Amino acid sequence: MESKFKSLSIFEFQEMFPDEESCLQYLSDLKWSDGYKCKKCGHTHYCQGNRKYDRQCTRCNYKESPTSGTLFHKVKFSLLKAFWIIYYMSTSKKGISSTELSRKLQLRQKTAWLFQRKVKEAMKSSGKYPLEGNVVVDESVVGQQEEGVKGRKNNKKKLIVFAIENKGKGVSRLYGKVIPNAGAKELGEFMRSTISKDASVRTDGWTGYNPLVKDFPNLIQEKSKKKGKNFKQMHRVIMGFKGWLRGIHHHANHLQSYIDEYTYRFNRSFMKENIFENLIKKMILAEPVTYKMISP
Ligand SMILES: [Zn+2]
Repeated sequence: MESKFKSLSIFEFQEMFPDEESCLQYLSDLKWSDGYKCKKCGHTHYCQGNRKYDRQCTRCNYKESPTSGTLFHKVKFSLLKAFWIIYYMSTSKKGISSTELSRKLQLRQKTAWLFQRKVKEAMKSSGKYPLEGNVVVDESVVGQQEEGVKGRKNNKKKLIVFAIENKGKGVSRLYGKVIPNAGAKELGEFMRSTISKDASVRTDGWTGYNPLVKDFPNLIQEKSKKKGKNFKQMHRVIMGFKGWLRGIHHHANHLQSYIDEYTYRFNRSFMKENIFENLIKKMILAEPVTYKMISP
């Protein structure tokens, strides 16, 4: 099943998930794949709860459903449709808009959009795999009239910092973050959470990077040249992200979640792992997010 799953076709998906029950069973298998343990008392024996896939602790009677405590918690439409959304989001190369999902799955656009936000929560980096080797860090501005605007003092635009990991002639992985300003504090926080200490980091001559040599002994600051001339690959990555952003219906307040989605997809395109299963796993492990927390 594992190898067939890697490039899950629409037919295989339909075969695996024909109905609500198959989704519940799948979630249940994944959630308790390391065995059952009661969340309240730690007991490891259970019996069936009220519904088929619910589990009830035989010591304290605590009941748990496959969806409780996960990002599937209290989803207001069928689990099958939720699986379809994840399927589309994980198999489409450039992502899929909530409008398109609403048409395909007969959901309200807003409903699809809100659930997509949850999936994007699951796409957030775990922070467990810092960039290594040759890394480049640079900032960029997202917003109107972005061309030619230096942006470091520009309050109307959103400032983003990107870090890319170079391998050979290409970019193997990247991370990005919306930052309020390009001060050493903000840049440092981002870099410490995404880049290995031993990496060879290159930045431009911006003073915000100066103090970070203490965190990254192999940091080299290059003299700033004209925009885009310093780090060609970085420039290409930023252009790619902005191009993608322009092509989707996006909401400026959620820029970080678009960065998370973009980098998640980018970083996994090289790993050739099963994105669909990985996403569902992350949704089970993630803390539940209420709609209130993610509404605009
Ligand atoms: Zn218990």
